[in-house]
Amino acid sequence: MSAAQWHEGLLIGYFAGSLFVFSSLMFVAKAAYGRHKGDKTAWWWGPGVPTRWAWVVMEAPSALGFAAIYFMGDRALAPVPLILLAMWQAHYFHRSFVYPFFRRVKPGDTTPLLVPLLAFCTNIGVSFLNAAILSWSQIGQGYELSWLADPRFLIGAAIFATGWRINRKADAMLAALRKPGETGYKVPRGWLYERISCPNYFGEFLVWTGWAIATWSTAGAVFLLWTLANLMPRALENHRWYRRTFADYPVQRRAVIPGLI
Ligand code: NDP
Repeated sequence: MSAAQWHEGLLIGYFAGSLFVFSSLMFVAKAAYGRHKGDKTAWWWGPGVPTRWAWVVMEAPSALGFAAIYFMGDRALAPVPLILLAMWQAHYFHRSFVYPFFRRVKPGDTTPLLVPLLAFCTNIGVSFLNAAILSWSQIGQGYELSWLADPRFLIGAAIFATGWRINRKADAMLAALRKPGETGYKVPRGWLYERISCPNYFGEFLVWTGWAIATWSTAGAVFLLWTLANLMPRALENHRWYRRTFADYPVQRRAVIPGLI
């Protein structure tokens, strides 16, 4: 089987997989990490592993694996693929090696093994899908310099940058809610939090919408679908959790899309 056929097969797999992930997280079981872990997490989620390191290990393929696959491509040193690589790494290098250390993890907090295990495997496939379209000429569309002036690149990059900023700021505001030594939850106030419960996920959705447009690729579109399938059920669950937990939770707030959802 050629690399192009592998790529196509994997795209179909991730498309189908995202429908499966969405229905499972929506109707069967919520992802058992963070506030939704609970005391009675089913045995099949596996033993707990340290949360901070779970984040590093599960996200690392998206930074290191992506870079390795990218540099195996014959167009790895072409300027436009390099710019797209820099965009991807601006998000994922931070997510893998910076974010886990400023996330306010409760002392001794663990995450069930199945969560990082599934994310680790998923991220390897996602990295192949998205890195190969940039630098492997047998798979990608071959981004020439003129792509930088194409409205699809310009609009996509602007949405990507907006989402990146929102995602970072939203995560930083959550981290700031807990003072050193604190372990509980508070109602986030101010900025986009006045309109939605999960601006971090909203930012994430914008990042991958921007990526799909800037690369104008099926791989980007499928990854956006995967991210929505993974995080939309969690956003709705977080929103319900806030409403259940805080009697004074602001009623006008939506879950994740301002004014809509
Ligand atoms: P959450 O919003 O569930 O939690 C983020 C951090 O903030 C955790 O440390 C959490 O603590 C803490 N926190 C959340 N709410 C409160 C509150 N009200 N008061 C005090 N602390 C709070 O986000 P996720 O962990 O699901 O995701 C983190 C980042 O990773 C996000 O930017 C998200 O977009 C990204 N992500 C991307 C995915 C993708 O598919 N591309 C998949 C999953 C995440 P605790 O852990 O104790 O609950």
